[in-house]
Amino acid sequence: MSATVSIVKYASSPDSLKKSIELCDGFKNLTPSDRVMIKPNLVAWDDQFSIAPFGVYTTTRLVEDLIICLKDFGCNNITIGEGSVQLKKDMGTFAAFEGLGYKTLEKKYGINLVDFNESKAEEFTYHGDNKLFIAKEAVENDYFINFPVLKTHGQTRISLGFKNLKGCLKLKSKRNCHNPESGLEFSFSHIADFVKPSLTIIDGIFALEKGALHYGKAYRKDVVIASRDILAADLIGAQTIGYAGKDIDHFKYFAKRHNKSLAIDDYDIKGENINDHIQPLKWDWTWTKDNTGPAIFEKLGVTGVALPKYDDTLCSGCSPIANLSNILVLSAFKGQPLPHVEILNGKKMQGRPGYDKTVLLGNCMIKANKDNENINEAVKVKGCPPSENDVVEAMKDVGLDVNVLAYHGYMKQQSEKYNGKEGYAPEFFSA
Ligand code: SF4
Repeated sequence: MSATVSIVKYASSPDSLKKSIELCDGFKNLTPSDRVMIKPNLVAWDDQFSIAPFGVYTTTRLVEDLIICLKDFGCNNITIGEGSVQLKKDMGTFAAFEGLGYKTLEKKYGINLVDFNESKAEEFTYHGDNKLFIAKEAVENDYFINFPVLKTHGQTRISLGFKNLKGCLKLKSKRNCHNPESGLEFSFSHIADFVKPSLTIIDGIFALEKGALHYGKAYRKDVVIASRDILAADLIGAQTIGYAGKDIDHFKYFAKRHNKSLAIDDYDIKGENINDHIQPLKWDWTWTKDNTGPAIFEKLGVTGVALPKYDDTLCSGCSPIANLSNILVLSAFKGQPLPHVEILNGKKMQGRPGYDKTVLLGNCMIKANKDNENINEAVKVKGCPPSENDVVEAMKDVGLDVNVLAYHGYMKQQSEKYNGKEGYAPEFFSA
């Protein structure tokens, strides 16, 4: 029998979520005594330049609605678990819990909060002897509810139910998913084999274009998608932002292993007509044809410096550093050609010939280019990830007159981009 997916227009709380769960029979296998684990998407927390929450984090509003539905069902053993990326020391999952109102939920409903980064690990093996270390609480529960956001992603096109499960991994495994050999999407497509969500709910109150962390553009979309089948939920979610199953590699890997269909016609869609909710969103940032920098470099006439496009080996720790480099180079541009320097990030980029100096950002880049004969002079920025200050100093060392305040100004702009905008109420992210 084909899996059922519900698509419901978000109109009010908690009724819209309740309807989406009912339409897909989402609590069919739930019993009141179950240990329920809710995994929202609280990707990272930044106390310096706050991440505008719309389309980035699961709305606290819907998380509270889910708790209300579970309590009404009789569940009293409810935990919320997440393993947020720690962009800075002490700025991890509990900073996100605090900032998004989860401490209030904890008091109000007597739920538990767990930081997967602090959990013990369970080891799982996939595809030969590849290992995934998953937080114990993410696998030791009776009813796992996967609660992602409707968003695009600069490496994987979309980030829905499958990608949200990456937050259940221990840090070493998170980073290892970005290893050049197995590939990011192949690796994380396996997490669902071990975590096995009982229900996936996609929060589409906001949908994010060109998404990740501080950047991207959120649209008010007002849909909630739910299914007991993770692939079914993700297929329909992807479709609403313009992506077919065949466009998404991690869907293909999972569907092949589990002999499942990627055609949405093979699923039983209940509720709204999906065609009324399709709004294609872009996922990618364009780069120059010769891969020397983001398209804006060409537009402004930036020459000399080369900043090849990030690839899927760039993990979340170094991803802000890649963006920092782009903005710093722009800050150094005064209309004249810049020094012949190449700046590399991630785990597999290889310095190209023709540059006087090559900046290697992070321990992975230093290792990947240690025997690269194309490099005239390597400027190594150590760290995992390297610090902002070390990146700035390295840029100055290679002759770029960078201004870190330009970066701070850009980040402040990103933080405040929805301030006062109709429909983007901060109350969605408080309890
Ligand atoms: S150096 Fe950067 S890319 Fe490499 S593991 Fe550390 S954070 Fe990830």
